[in-house]
Amino acid sequence: MKLTPLLVIMPSPMEPAPSRSDISRQLVNVCHLLYSKGFVTATDGNVSSRLPNGNILVTPSALNKGRVSESDLVEVMANGTPVTLSRRPSTEVDMHLFIYSQRDDVKAVVHAHPTHATGFATARIPLNECLFPEVIVGLGAIPLAHYATPSTKEVAEALMPFVGNADAILLANHGVVTYGKDLDDAYFKMEKVEHAAHIAFVARLLGGEKPLTPFEIEKLRSISETSYGKDFSQKIACEPMQELEDVSEEKLKEMIREILRK
Ligand SMILES: [Zn+2]
Repeated sequence: MKLTPLLVIMPSPMEPAPSRSDISRQLVNVCHLLYSKGFVTATDGNVSSRLPNGNILVTPSALNKGRVSESDLVEVMANGTPVTLSRRPSTEVDMHLFIYSQRDDVKAVVHAHPTHATGFATARIPLNECLFPEVIVGLGAIPLAHYATPSTKEVAEALMPFVGNADAILLANHGVVTYGKDLDDAYFKMEKVEHAAHIAFVARLLGGEKPLTPFEIEKLRSISETSYGKDFSQKIACEPMQELEDVSEEKLKEMIREILRK
C-alpha cells in the first residue's frame, strides 16, 4: 500500500509577533486552564503578558480565573501606572512588573497555587534535586524564595536572588511563579513544576527519591544541546546524588569505634 506522505510544516524563519488580540485571547485561555487544572481556587492566581506597545496586560483583582474574559483584562504601564481605569489590576501586579524589569527576555508571567508544588513551598523544601532529565534541561533547580507578605515589596526582595537564573520559583507558604518567552511557555512551566512536585511526593511515599548521579548529569549535559536544543549551564544547578566517599580501612575502624563509644 502506498502511504500518503504527511504534511510537513516548515517553521517560518520570522514568526510574526503576536498582536494584542492574540495575547488577550491566549491570556484568557491560560486563566481557564489554571482553574480547570485546579492550580488556583476562588480568586487566587494571576497572569500577565507584555503587549506590543511595551505595556503589560494583567488579570484583574478578585476575579475567578475560570470566569475571566478578554474585556476583564487590565493594562498597566511597565512602571505600574494604570492605563485601564475601569478595573483594578491583580494585587500581585508588582511581582509581575519586578520580573519584567529584571528579564528583558520574559514576555509572560503566571502565578498559581498548585497543590503539590505549594505543598513543597509550605514545607519549605525547594525542588532542587536532580530528579527528572526534562526538568533539569528545561528549568534546572526550582529554588525556594523566602516567605514574603503577598502584594508587598517583600516579594521582589525574596525573588531577587533567583530571578535572573530561574524560570520557576517556589514562594514559601504561598505558591509558585513561572515565566517565559510567551504565555504558553510560562503556563507549561507551571504544569511542569506541579507535575515534578507530584512525582517527587509520590517517590517520597515509596521510600524516597533517588537523584541522578554527577556522571548521569554530565551525560545529560552532553546531549542536551542536540536532543533538546537547550543548554542548561546557565540555570541554577540541581543537586545530584551524593556519592559515597572512599573510606580507608583505618577511617572505617575509627568510625566503628566512634559508634561503639556512643
Ligand atoms: Zn498567590
